[in-house]
Amino acid sequence: MQKNKKTQTTSSAESIEKSRPQLEKNVRSLIEAIGENNSREGLQDTPRRVVDALSKIFSGYGQDPKKIATTFNAENYDEMIVMKDIEFYSSCEHHMLPFFGKAYIGYIPNKKIIGLSKIPRVVDIFARRLQNQERLTMEIAETLRELIDPRGVGVVIEAEHLCVKSRGVEKQNAKVVTSAMLGLFKKKLNTRNEFLRLINHA
Ligand SMILES: [Zn+2]
Repeated sequence: MQKNKKTQTTSSAESIEKSRPQLEKNVRSLIEAIGENNSREGLQDTPRRVVDALSKIFSGYGQDPKKIATTFNAENYDEMIVMKDIEFYSSCEHHMLPFFGKAYIGYIPNKKIIGLSKIPRVVDIFARRLQNQERLTMEIAETLRELIDPRGVGVVIEAEHLCVKSRGVEKQNAKVVTSAMLGLFKKKLNTRNEFLRLINHA
């Protein structure tokens, strides 16, 4: 491993831990500003718990999806591979509120396939950052393209945003659907339709 890559591998957990006293203080200020009382019993340990939660929610920083992914020889398998209903939790970068839902991923291998358990890991690495849904969708698709150079890849994400639901905006049950289609999924209508049919989004 190259030494100059070291700064990139600082995990968010490490950097949050380093700033913990300040972060907990900030949470106490926030609690006070919303009109709460920090000495109330139920809130005593809240700053610590909030920082613990942030450490998990933003653990996608400092992780490189290209390092975790295992790829294999496709052994001439050339049909579409689809993984559905990949649950994820992310945070919108505009409000730092959760958005969450499901990702649907399909690809047609060229020479390589990716370990199935690694697909949700790739999703999580990008989801556990401050995001917008469009970027999250593209980053997953482009990472798969870089990792296995497939003949095509499609990513569909369906999510609910708490910043829409909880702030009293109308259409509270609306779901946002985004998609990224690369290679054959973009060029060939049949391929795209097959993917959408397999994930029940046609
Ligand atoms: Zn938002």
